[in-house]
Amino acid sequence: MTTDPIERLANLKHEFGEHGGVNMSIEASTTFTVMKPDTMPALFAGQSSGREGCYLYGRHFNPTVFVLGRELAALEGTEAAYCTASGMAAISATILQLCAAGDHVVASNTLYGGTYALLHDYLPHKSGITTTFVDINNPGAVAAAITDRTRMVYAESMSNPTLRVADIPRLAELAHARDLPLVIDNTFSPLLLSPGAYGADIVVHSMTKFINGASDVIAGAVCASEAFIQDLMDLHTGSLMLLGPTMDPVTASKISLRIPHLPLRLTEHARRAQVIAERLAERGCDVIYPGLPAHPDHALLTQLRCEHYGYGGLLALNMGSVERANRLMDLLQNEQRFGYMAVSLGYSDTLMSCSASSTSSEMDEAALREAGIMPGLVRMSIGYTGSLEQRWRQLERVLNEVDSGAEGAVPLSG
Ligand code: PLP
Repeated sequence: MTTDPIERLANLKHEFGEHGGVNMSIEASTTFTVMKPDTMPALFAGQSSGREGCYLYGRHFNPTVFVLGRELAALEGTEAAYCTASGMAAISATILQLCAAGDHVVASNTLYGGTYALLHDYLPHKSGITTTFVDINNPGAVAAAITDRTRMVYAESMSNPTLRVADIPRLAELAHARDLPLVIDNTFSPLLLSPGAYGADIVVHSMTKFINGASDVIAGAVCASEAFIQDLMDLHTGSLMLLGPTMDPVTASKISLRIPHLPLRLTEHARRAQVIAERLAERGCDVIYPGLPAHPDHALLTQLRCEHYGYGGLLALNMGSVERANRLMDLLQNEQRFGYMAVSLGYSDTLMSCSASSTSSEMDEAALREAGIMPGLVRMSIGYTGSLEQRWRQLERVLNEVDSGAEGAVPLSG
């Protein structure tokens, strides 16, 4: 099998529409007819996967959603994948499949706020599943946190919003030495990083972001071995089957139509992010971007990445204070139309948010400090609309204005 995700995608059997359309049809049925009475008991007894043209029920399996699952598996190079109604559904179902009441997780201390809240607040309260949060690139800390009750090691390939890169090969080695699966959230770096190729056992995605690219649907995926996906779908014990975070087939069709231009979009997101980050750094701004040699994980990402996609489409700019961060975003959106103040990422236009008071606000001050999320840190998902020079002129004008007008402001490089 080729190691190039876009070659794997191109090698997939094309799914034509019902009438020979170039796009697949959307399977609108929630239930499926069996032609013989003994088929139904066989499906319920798990003697047939229900994939080979004999589907059971839409919450369990829908052929349109299944095609998108095949595409995600090809993207990540895993045996199988299952698409879910959101990224959080993919993450929570994975954790609940691997952990029982009283079990333990070792996780990175820099995670998306929703995942952090799930592990830090929700799961201990509801199920006694506890988590030790560690600096995921400190092998000693990861190894020391593992206990007899640990059932998984969890990290984001590129952390939200600090853009630290997980050393996936090293983490896989550490986890496997203790017979634990390594789960990686690859939402920030589809195609750029292939965690499965470096030993991750399960790769989860919020497809709400880059993979879909149009900020119009919420979606997720779990990419893993055939055995794990079957476990998730088990009629008696499967988290996805029983908790029911099913993807709608219309959503699956929409996302599937956008996967072919994901490589083109990512290339342009990354090209622009690199230029903007370099120019910000030249200006003396406190900018975090893994494509800058000063970034602590620049060398690691250079070694792990697929170079077509640069160093990703996100950067973070530390404005020194919430006031300066808010002024920057206000002017960028309302005067310059540079982008929008909105959470999420991977959209055609630039999206920006102050992480500490938005997507990471689930963390308390100590956790934010530990994770390196400063109050004035503005995360930007760099878009590809307009021209790059036009966008840079807009950003430069606003930075000049914030610098000149802000009384008692912290210098940008400070
Ligand atoms: N993982 C990461 C890294 C995210 O940034 C997000 C959302 O922002 C999620 C997971 C959750 O995804 P969703 O909103 O699709 O549930």
